[in-house]
Amino acid sequence: MTTIMDIISGRDPHETEFHQAVTEVVGSVKLVLDKNPEYRHARIVERMVEPERIIQFRVPWVDDQGRVQVNRGFRVEMNSAIGPYKGGLRFHPSVNLSILKFLAFEQVFKNALTTLPMGGAKGGADFDPKGKSDNEVMRFCQSFMSELFRHLGADRDVPAGDIGVGGREIGYMFGMYKKLKNEFTGMLTGKSLNWGGSLIRPEATGYGSVYFAQEMLTTRHQTLKDKICLVSGSGNVAQYTTEKIIQLGGNVVTLSDSTGYIYDEKGIDLDKLVYVKYLKNLKRGRIREYAEKYPEAVYMEFDPAADHSPLWNHRADCAFPSATQNEINELDARNLVNNGVQVVCEGANMPTTLEGIDIFLDHKILFAPGKAANAGGVAVSGLEMAQNAMRIKWNSQEVEERLRKIMQHIHRECLVASEEYGTPGNYVNGANIAGFVKVAEAMMDQGV
Ligand code: GLU
Repeated sequence: MTTIMDIISGRDPHETEFHQAVTEVVGSVKLVLDKNPEYRHARIVERMVEPERIIQFRVPWVDDQGRVQVNRGFRVEMNSAIGPYKGGLRFHPSVNLSILKFLAFEQVFKNALTTLPMGGAKGGADFDPKGKSDNEVMRFCQSFMSELFRHLGADRDVPAGDIGVGGREIGYMFGMYKKLKNEFTGMLTGKSLNWGGSLIRPEATGYGSVYFAQEMLTTRHQTLKDKICLVSGSGNVAQYTTEKIIQLGGNVVTLSDSTGYIYDEKGIDLDKLVYVKYLKNLKRGRIREYAEKYPEAVYMEFDPAADHSPLWNHRADCAFPSATQNEINELDARNLVNNGVQVVCEGANMPTTLEGIDIFLDHKILFAPGKAANAGGVAVSGLEMAQNAMRIKWNSQEVEERLRKIMQHIHRECLVASEEYGTPGNYVNGANIAGFVKVAEAMMDQGV
């Protein structure tokens, strides 16, 4: 019998990240298909793994030396069964179709879990903002949007940020869209506060991930108080994950970037976090500089040839991988388990390999997959869309309270689905199944 994996690896044999994401979902969804053969007849999974539309385009721009540079831009519009396409834009040299298809695929389920009406998409470019001047970034964003604009709209496709795309880039892209369309509309989220953005959007992914961890700990009658936490990354998600952990009494001892990580045994407090935000967001510096400012911290460079990451080899109660995909492999997962970890909460998208996930599940670690744990970002994007549509603005307490309730709801839905399908406490199955059923039902309703 031809399987879904045969189909996608036959069509696109090199898309390893996409295959990884589909393998994980297909493993869970099998339980649903066995109970509901109508989904098999309608070939729902086969339809879900084929993007509704892929847009690929040339992004030419001029650097500060007057040289012409050429990058490749993409938008993968994966699924619009439950709402307009929604999902971030990633600017990073690693961006290719495999990575964007995996991210868009994950986004479909994640967005469904939020209960807000958003389909799934992802886009970006193989552009590296690192080391570029403001003007270069602006010219790149303008060129990128001069093609993408025709595919966007508040009821059509609404991008946001992801790695390499923050408030600055969203602003430049919004400005270009407005010029081209002569329209001030909520076709991007993550906008600045004084021109249509939502309060708590920058904080949302990190805060949401910590709320999810808190819910998981509650099932074991525990809290984050005094828990030692390893956080990877030092961008937006890692910063606000750290902030919320500190607010809830936990102790964050690590942060990283692509070249190395810092270990601060005393813990990163709110003052030190202010410095991290300045260092990363304004100075656009490297995490190494943290250890130069705070000598109690040590900095260690990553060895790209190593078979594991030393960041995950410290004693800790909780791990919040918040950098990028596949940063925890089987060996890292074993190290975390041996070091006493009880909670692994994915702030990034697919930071754990399939082998790593199996180790966590085998050891009954509270493991939250990214599509559930990091859904807070896109959830507040959905709230930003709602506020734009109503032309109103909620205060930060209102938005944060809605975010907290959404994360609690996602946690509950994962648990209920995991129990209903005979794998209680397995958040991977729970998230995949709960997300899948919502999208599958909408696809069934709307015909082939
Ligand atoms: N890039 C974020 C994610 O992975 C946010 C997407 C959005 O807000 O549309 O979910």
